[in-house]
Amino acid sequence: MSRDPRFDILFEPLKIGPVTAKNRFFQVPHCNGMGWTQPQGLAELRRVKAEGGWGVICTEEVEIHPSSDCSPYHEGRLWSDLDIPALALMAEAVHGYDALAGIEIMHHGPSCANYDSREIPIGPSHRPITYYSPVQARAMSKSDIRELRQWHRQAALRAKRAEFDIVYVYASHDLGLPMHFLQRRKNDRGDEYGGSLENRVRLLRELIEDTKDAVGDRCAVAVRLGVEELLGADGIVSAEEGRDIVAMLAELPDLWDVNVSSWANDSVTSRFKKEGYQEEHTAFVKSLTSKPVVGVGRFTSPDTMVSQIRRGVMDFIGAARPSIADPFLPNKINEGRTDDIRECIGCNICVSSDYSSSNLRCTQNPTMGEEWRRGWHPEKIPARGSDKTLLVVGAGPAGLEAALAAAKRGYEVHLAEAGSELGGRVLHESSLPGLIEWGRVREWRIGQLLPMSNVSIYRDSPLSAADILEFGAGHVALATGSHWRRDGVGRANGWAIPGFNSADVFTPDDLMKGRRPRGPVVIFDDDHYYMANVLAERCVELGLKVTLVTPAVQVASWAGNTLESTSILKRLMTLDVELVRHHNITRFVNSTLHLRCEITGRHLELPCQSLINVTARLPDDALHTELSGQDTALREAGISTLSLIGDGLAPGTIAAAVYQGHKFARYLDSELPPHEYARELPLIQLGEPPHTLKQ
Ligand code: ADP
Ligand code: SF4
Repeated sequence: MSRDPRFDILFEPLKIGPVTAKNRFFQVPHCNGMGWTQPQGLAELRRVKAEGGWGVICTEEVEIHPSSDCSPYHEGRLWSDLDIPALALMAEAVHGYDALAGIEIMHHGPSCANYDSREIPIGPSHRPITYYSPVQARAMSKSDIRELRQWHRQAALRAKRAEFDIVYVYASHDLGLPMHFLQRRKNDRGDEYGGSLENRVRLLRELIEDTKDAVGDRCAVAVRLGVEELLGADGIVSAEEGRDIVAMLAELPDLWDVNVSSWANDSVTSRFKKEGYQEEHTAFVKSLTSKPVVGVGRFTSPDTMVSQIRRGVMDFIGAARPSIADPFLPNKINEGRTDDIRECIGCNICVSSDYSSSNLRCTQNPTMGEEWRRGWHPEKIPARGSDKTLLVVGAGPAGLEAALAAAKRGYEVHLAEAGSELGGRVLHESSLPGLIEWGRVREWRIGQLLPMSNVSIYRDSPLSAADILEFGAGHVALATGSHWRRDGVGRANGWAIPGFNSADVFTPDDLMKGRRPRGPVVIFDDDHYYMANVLAERCVELGLKVTLVTPAVQVASWAGNTLESTSILKRLMTLDVELVRHHNITRFVNSTLHLRCEITGRHLELPCQSLINVTARLPDDALHTELSGQDTALREAGISTLSLIGDGLAPGTIAAAVYQGHKFARYLDSELPPHEYARELPLIQLGEPPHTLKQ
């Protein structure tokens, strides 16, 4: 197949200062949970994206000094010459495909506590650091500013020695020292770095000039600027100061990389914003500069990308999440295979790995973060290990992914699904308010499976143990899923809650199957992620009065890891959902819920016609239990392995189910131990630590 000529513009080369990008696909800086701790893993991750056709590939934020230490999070580090080889690995890997390597050097200033280095954070003014820690940043003196400029210059020179092509000056996401100098609410200096916008821009201007002076002969200098903070008059507003800052510096950098701050506003989930959502705030930039502009907006549709360029919104299509979900997105457009693009679903599970300082992961792309340590490639998979056939029972995310990965390995795959439609939980959950894009998990996999001649799909086929034995496949994978509990057992309650056997108690499954509650409704959230609050939205849509009760101090406390806490709370409060925090339920009798405050033990009663219990799920593993006890029958049926995968083994996220399905298929007929993977081990320095650094 060949490229649709409509998309030709996406493949035009474009100059960025002294360097030229081979096309318009620009992987903007993105965190990954790996950072300085896994340089080989990261180099391979970025290399795969270069192989997939991205014209520019950037690092995540890279700290330039021990006074910018954002431990416990793992970002990049360029504190000294010792850090050059680790970063050079990535630049070299990317250059193998004629892609440009970009590095986002930065100083956190008052955004980090410096837990590890124990340096005192610095900032424009005396202020507590951004996050809730008992740590204050001290106001920088003029000599501190001179020193900072030296650190930045040194880091830029080191980046050049590491062979990067684009060096960033970073002022975005409510992070980075120049950003804090720009922010009136954080800068009350009385000198030439505070007060007027001209003064507050000074540090940013100087850092751009310094960087150009240091490395501009060979490297392009990019500025990443948050042109809008969505804080009204308290923050940077794109139509006011955002515009003025760009106007003041318009021709100074070689590239403008612009977005909406903070990170939660930049990487919004699909539940709250759709593709291209930043345009209203960033589109003005191109009218003020002749330099190329890159912006983001969870772009996965080539038509939208072309439209952004043709309408003069941006010159480069910036992408973090779409490049994680499909590292081969550019190549697929180039080869006329747009239907093969594995579109990001906008769930932000990838973001959660940064918050947990663990390997990058993705709901759609199970190979993400596993490129080096397990040798997984998003588009290539080893050939099958035997001629055995595979029967997959259940076509939820785990079953669909297991079937697809095994089919790509060349196995003859039979996929049986009890329901008339494929997709399991994704089919149902994507019909809930705001979650429609999650349907891409099933749509993409079904679209890939249908044309494969070695795959047979059986709908409306609830298989029994006898059916499976009769079918007699060489391998059987049970991906039978899970169901929500009705009894209240979960984190807060080890035993069933009295009264939860009433007909007025609902589970999320009941609602997703169309059972209708009566108001007033109480939703008991001991799950702490999306399900309870999405169901609250659904009940409000049904015209019901809703109260959400949670034993936690915060509503949807885990959703902070997907940057959704504030948006969820805002939505619930806007919909007048009553919120009762740190309360547990002790009893449900006579349409009355009896609650106990988890802090004081005080008693509270709520009227409740329907209670929706969102506490925990139980695996649907009966089939596995039945079959696994029948060794002889399995042997006689020719079934050499019987595996339970996905939620049927242990209920978890959709990402976990997809990953497990993929892993199952990868290790089918393999001798490799599935729990082992290559690790980047700490360097043991023999003898004493370097004497120059010891007192
Ligand atoms: P996971 O997240 O692990 O993929 P899901 O709950 O999303 O799990 O999907 C499980 C799927 O398995 C559902 O679509 C369900 O209808 C199907 N299923 C469960 N038991 C059987 C069975 N005995 N035969 C065929 N399909 C089944
Ligand atoms: Fe997109 Fe979700 Fe993957 Fe992140 S984890 S890249 S948001 S699909």
